[in-house]
Amino acid sequence: MFAGKFTAPPRRTRRRPRLSPIAATPGYEEPEMARRIASLMLLAGAVTVLLILQAPDVDPSDHDGFRVIAILAALGAAVIWFGRLEGLAAILVGVVYGIGLVSAAVYVAKPISGTSSFYLWPLLFGAYFLRWRWVVAIVALAWASFAGALALRPDIEMRAILFVDTVVTVSVAVAVVVYLRERVAELVGHLRRSAITDPLTGLVNRRGFEEALERELARAQRSGAPVALVVFDLDHFKQLNDTLGHAAGDRALVQFARLLRRSARRGDVLARIGGEEFAAVLYDADANDALTFAERVVARQRQLDRETPLTVSAGVAVGRSPYPTRDEIFDAADRALYAAKRAGRARARLGEVPARATVATSGPA
Ligand code: GH3
Ligand code: MG
Ligand code: MG
Repeated sequence: MFAGKFTAPPRRTRRRPRLSPIAATPGYEEPEMARRIASLMLLAGAVTVLLILQAPDVDPSDHDGFRVIAILAALGAAVIWFGRLEGLAAILVGVVYGIGLVSAAVYVAKPISGTSSFYLWPLLFGAYFLRWRWVVAIVALAWASFAGALALRPDIEMRAILFVDTVVTVSVAVAVVVYLRERVAELVGHLRRSAITDPLTGLVNRRGFEEALERELARAQRSGAPVALVVFDLDHFKQLNDTLGHAAGDRALVQFARLLRRSARRGDVLARIGGEEFAAVLYDADANDALTFAERVVARQRQLDRETPLTVSAGVAVGRSPYPTRDEIFDAADRALYAAKRAGRARARLGEVPARATVATSGPA
């Protein structure tokens, strides 16, 4: 995902809109996952309760209460699973309902023994998915309902100690999960950005470019807008390397990247796709806009105040419905680039994207 998409995303993690209660947890891309975990947690809770009931018990008077709790947990699991609750709905139902069930268990359990440690289940589940403010809210809810359930149990000895014990232990576990999750999200974001960034110029690399072009084509399919691609290749770059050295070549590459950034608009994807080859996927631009952009870059590069003149050639291709594939539009731009080279370099050429034969979508092969 490209934040801003103008060049490689900025180093600092761009936060999701503050309004979203869901943290940028790695894997959250699948809201399905929240549904699966929430219903599995409730189902596992039901099974655990039923198993515990099989163990020898000094006071079986709470067994009916526990059976009701097990049935309610299984019902909750079924509602989340078959009701196809996803994302935030699945998370909140899983967490709040889970807290309620554990509080009910605290209320009925005789003896209480380790019942309150089950708060770990809904709270750790919530801590993995929710932003920390929301985690604070669910933790507060859990402790309020735990305090309420204990208040209704005057028979429990040393209630205050049990309360503090549980609150401290579970809260620390929740804090650790939130911290680890944030660290992992930061790391994944960092690796993701490195994987699509060219270290020399800071532009998107070939891999990021291919993803961006694919994404723009998919977006265009929905919106009907044209997709404009411009590829650039510095002219006689090998000569520059040979005469001034590799370091001077690198400086020229960085300088060209800067020029590209200056010439593009917000939303355009700028990439270094090979040694001295660059590309721009232009946002909402038609053939005219793209050719104007390419010619502007060519002209600016020619006018750059450099130790040795270095020019650039450009090939432009614009796809419209029926849209070309990524390779087709790239080939068209590449052919236009080589036409510009053959015509004497330091210029831009507009290429033809081959008309797509309408693809049969049904019928026998
Ligand atoms: P043309 O005008 O036909 O494009 O000629 P050219 O010399 O630019 O093309 P060619 O493909 O023959 O040479 C590209 C050169 O780019 C060769 C390679 O050494 C150089 N190059 C590739 N990557 C880098 C890099 O990261 N830094 C530097 N300094 N040079 C690079
Ligand atoms: Mg080249
Ligand atoms: Mg070249």
